[in-house]
Order: sequence, then C-alpha cells, then structure tokens
Amino acid sequence: MTKTPKIEKAIKTATTAHEGQLRKTGEAYIIHPLAVYKILESWNMDEDTLIAGLLHDAVEDTALTLGEIERDFGKNVAFLVDGVTKLGKARSGMRELDTYLPETRDNLMKLLIALGADIRVLIIKLADRLHNLRTLSALPPAKQRKIARESLEVFAPLADRLQMGLTRVEIEEISFSYLDNKRFDYLKNLTKTRLSSAKQNLDAARLDVEKILKKEGIKFKSDARVKSIYSLHKKLAKHNQNINRIYDLLAMRFIVDDTTTCYLVLGLIHSLFTPMPDRIKDYIATPKLNGYQSLHTTVITPTEQIVEFQIRTHQMHDFAERGLAASFHYNEQKLTEDYRAGKIAKLPTNLLWIRELQEASVALGAGKKIDAKKLKLNLFSDKIFVYTPKGDIIDLPQGALPLDFAYRIHSEIGNRAMGVKINGKMSDFKTPLKHGDIVEVITAKNQIPRESWFQKLFTAHARQKLRQQLAKLPDFSRKK
Ligand code: MN
Repeated sequence: MTKTPKIEKAIKTATTAHEGQLRKTGEAYIIHPLAVYKILESWNMDEDTLIAGLLHDAVEDTALTLGEIERDFGKNVAFLVDGVTKLGKARSGMRELDTYLPETRDNLMKLLIALGADIRVLIIKLADRLHNLRTLSALPPAKQRKIARESLEVFAPLADRLQMGLTRVEIEEISFSYLDNKRFDYLKNLTKTRLSSAKQNLDAARLDVEKILKKEGIKFKSDARVKSIYSLHKKLAKHNQNINRIYDLLAMRFIVDDTTTCYLVLGLIHSLFTPMPDRIKDYIATPKLNGYQSLHTTVITPTEQIVEFQIRTHQMHDFAERGLAASFHYNEQKLTEDYRAGKIAKLPTNLLWIRELQEASVALGAGKKIDAKKLKLNLFSDKIFVYTPKGDIIDLPQGALPLDFAYRIHSEIGNRAMGVKINGKMSDFKTPLKHGDIVEVITAKNQIPRESWFQKLFTAHARQKLRQQLAKLPDFSRKK
C-alpha cells in the first residue's frame, strides 16, 4: 500500500510520541513501530491495521491516549491499538506471576483468544513479536530464552493456526536458535552436508519432471524447499535421530494453475519414478487442520535417491505461505461480515474457529463466563498448555499425565516424584492434565522410579526417560 496521508500522519504522530525513547539495541524507539508497520505492509494488511501497527506501543509507553487516537484516526484504529495494548499488559502481569490467584492464572492463550475478536489484533501482535525476535540479540540471555520459549509455544502455533507458514517458520527458527544454539548449528551443518551430496541427483530428477511437464504442455513454476531446522529437529525426535529416515529434507515443489492439473502432475511423476505407496498424501481432498492443501508424494529415483514432491495451485501456495494475512480482505473478512450481518447462515468449516473467537469475546465482554477449555482445545487441538508453580508454560500432548509433566521439567523431578498437586489440590498420577492446570510435583530424596510407572505415562519422551532410569537400577528394587 502506498503511504496514504493518514499513514503519513500516523508516522509523524508515532515519531513525536516516542521521541527521546531508546530500544535495548540503543536505536531510537521509533525503529520498532516502523518495522512492525513494514511487516504488516508486506502482509498486505489494510490501512487501519498499518496505522494501528505504527501506534501499537504508543498508549502503553507514551503520553498519547486512546481518545486522541480515536479522534485522529478513527474508532477502528483505536479498537485495534486497545486490543494490542491490553494483550501486552496482561502478558506482563502474567510474567511476574508467582501466586495462584484464579484471576491471574489465565494463560496467554486465553488472552490471545479473548482479545482476538478482531483477527487483526493477533496479526499485529505477530508482527510485533516477529520484529522483537529479529532483534532479540540485544536482550540479556535469560530474557532471550524466555521470549524464545514463549514464541515457540504460543506464537508459532498461533501463526500456524492463521496458516501463516512463512511467519511460523521464521518464529520457530529464531526461537530455536536461541533456545538450543548448539543443536541448531549442528542440524544446520548436517542439512548442508546432506544436501550438497544429494544435489546433483536431485537436479536430475527435477529436470526429468520438468521435461515431461513441458512435453504435456503444462504451465508450472518449480522450486525446492529445504526443511526448516526446527521441523527437522522435531522429526528426528520421532525417528530415533536417524536422518536416513527423513525423506523430505529437500522437497521439489511444482505450482500449477488448477486442482485437476495437480493430479495430472502427480500421475506424471509416478510414471517416471516409483512412488512409496504409504507416502502419497492428498491434502487437497483432505486439507490439514489449519487448511493447508497440497499433494505430497515420495518417490525413489533410478539413482536410488528418495525425493519428496509437493504439488499445489498458486492459490494454495500463497495461502500456505501467507495464510490469513494473504486472503483476509477478500475472503475471510467478507465472509465473517456477511455472517455477522446474517446474510449467510453458516461459515465454512475452516473458518468456524473465527466465529468461536468472536462469540467468546462477545461473551467475555458481557462479563459472562466462557468455556475457555473447549475453545483452546479447538484452536490447538493436539496440545495442552500447563503451568509450573512459577508460571512457566509447558506444552504437552493432549492426554498427558502428571509424570509426563515431571519428566518434561527434569528427569530427576520425574524419578523422585512422590505426589502431585494440580491447581493446589493433591491428585494422583492417573489424573489427565487439562489445559491451564498449574502442576506442582512433590519429590522425595529416597524415591526411586518403578516399572509400574509405565502405566502412568502418556508421552514417548517420559517413557524413554523412565526406561533409561530403570536400566540403572538393580532388578529387585524396581519391581514394585
Ligand atoms: Mn511492540
């Protein structure tokens, strides 16, 4: 978007308001709102969102008031700035949290949901977080880790839910590089080495496909995508750290005009190479939970190279990379507006969660209670977020039990676990943890792990830890 007079005015207002303030990097503070504005612009956001991006820190950190923003830039901008401000305040309250007050134990997700009545508030928050991550090196290490962890556990899933693939990957890569720098560098080098040795064969495979597509008169764009370091890290954990089991380190991507052509290209690729039957995935017919669509197939080339191909339309591609920010204006916004105006009776399934957000925020605004658990589970269906007594967020798969939590904190906490308090109440090890629970593990020095504990574990991670521990103990002591 070109700089409209209103945007010019907002830049001036923000610059004046933040005059004299410095960032931790030593630069003038205005650098930050300007960067957030640039990010939002690159996501093609509308004028109100761009202006709110410029002013997002002004109410909290400067003398500028919400009333002045409303007077100068309108109700919508004021609403968006207010949403982002509230989010920031609630978060800092939570960070200092060391008591169990029920009012303060609401987690960040609940806040994000409640204040995300207008999805644009969340999108501004993502842009804000992205720029803070890009400049994270200016903060002290302890703070870096805290922000990186929160980004990985809350903001990356949020970007994923909004289907903003590029943003999710960037958040994950930066966060992971701060959380486990050694591992990050190791995997980066590993990827590099593996790819350089495979490159010639892969290029040959790609040229073969391109040749046949040209012969068939199919218009296409092709590129290669290298698996991100963080998703490689996650996948290796699932496959016993065996890199030879990772078939999609490099994927060849073919982008075509329409859905029918996607299937045609899939057929042509299979006529060239032998597909691995259990690795053909039709995410066009059955999109992923977040709406992702594409055809995936893994084939074996004549040179015994295993290659993954991804085939999708331009529209699917754009949506996969930029998600809701990409199509918000023309599609979602229109649909949700029509829905609210009663022009359409039902939202498409992939947008139902937007309606849930809106209903929840209306209910909260009216002082009503909402079933936050249900909401959160729908939004992050395979994950729960629980708290340590100090307020750190731990994410676990749904179904996780107290000992899974204990082993996630530290193997010694797991090994010495005697009992557990959930939300301040003594509970037993078979109680499944719920979203938002505060979990405190009670340990005893003379406790040792038992074989029977396998019944009380849900995650593979905790099972592995327990197995390691049991192997160190004499037979008689653990059979209890
Ligand atoms: Mn900010």
